[in-house]
Amino acid sequence: MAALDGKTAIVTGASSGIGAATAQALAREGATVIGGARRPDLIAAPVAGRVLDVTDPASCERFVAGAAANGLDILVNAAGLALGRDSFDQSTEDDEQTVLETNVNGLIRMTRLCLPHLRDGGHIVNMGSIAGRQAYPNGALYVTSKFAVRGFTYALREDLLGRPIRITTVDPGLVETDFSRVRFRGDEETARKVYEGVEAMTPGDIAECVLFAVTRPPHVNVDELVVKALAQSSGARIIRT
Ligand code: NAP
Repeated sequence: MAALDGKTAIVTGASSGIGAATAQALAREGATVIGGARRPDLIAAPVAGRVLDVTDPASCERFVAGAAANGLDILVNAAGLALGRDSFDQSTEDDEQTVLETNVNGLIRMTRLCLPHLRDGGHIVNMGSIAGRQAYPNGALYVTSKFAVRGFTYALREDLLGRPIRITTVDPGLVETDFSRVRFRGDEETARKVYEGVEAMTPGDIAECVLFAVTRPPHVNVDELVVKALAQSSGARIIRT
C-alpha cells in the first residue's frame, strides 16, 4: 500500500517546476491530486489539471468547490513568482500588486477556502523560500512576500494548535525551474545565467521534502524544512565554477 492511498491533494502552481513535481510525487504515493494553474493544459496525468488563478477570488472559489467537494487531505500552496531583480527604486504599482497578490493574498485565500474541507489528519504545505528568512539585495518585493508566507505559516500554526491539522513551510534555495524566466520577463539569456556554474536543486528534490513532511506519523509536525544547493549559503552567496 502506498503512503498516500485514499488521500486527496490540491497543488497550486502545478503546471511547472516545484508544483508540477510535487503533484506528480503525491500521485505516485497514491494520492488523488488536483492541480491548479492558469495553464492547466500543462498539467500532466495522473494529476487532474484545472484552471486556477490564485489572484482571482472567484476563480479560487470555483476551483476549491470542485476539487474539495468530497473532502481534502493535503493542500500544497506552490503557486508563486518574482518579477525583476532591481533596486526597490525601480518598483512599480503593477509589479507590487502581482507579486503580493500571487504569493501572499493568493496563498492566504486558497488556505482560507480549503480549510473547511480539510479532514482530520489534514496537512497544509506552503512553499516559502530562503528569501523569506534572510533578505538579499534587489529582491525587496519577493523577499517581502516570502517573509509574509513564513509569518502566515507560523500564525496559522498557532490557530490550528489543538486541531488534527498539520502545517509546514518548505523553504528552498536555488531550484532550476521557469522561475527565473518569469522573473526576467522572458529574457532567456539572463535566466540561464542564474543556474550557470552551479548545480542547482531540481524540482524533484523539493517534491521529496514535501513528501517527507506529509508522510510523517500523525503526531509529528514538521514546522519548516530549509534546503539549499550545496554551493549556496544564502540568497546572496553562491559559489560558481
Ligand atoms: P515556476 O516553474 O515558474 O512555477 C510557478 C508556478 O506558479 C506555475 O505553475 C504557475 O502556473 C504558477 N502560478 C503563477 N501565478 C499563478 C496564479 N496567479 N495562479 C495560479 N498559479 C500561478 O517556478 P517554481 O520555481 O516552480 O516556483 C514555485 C514556488 O516555489 C514559488 O512559490 C516560488 O516562489 C518558490 N520557490 C522557488 C525557488 C526557485 O529557485 N525556483 C526557490 C524558492 C522558492 P501558471 O503560469 O500556469 O499559472
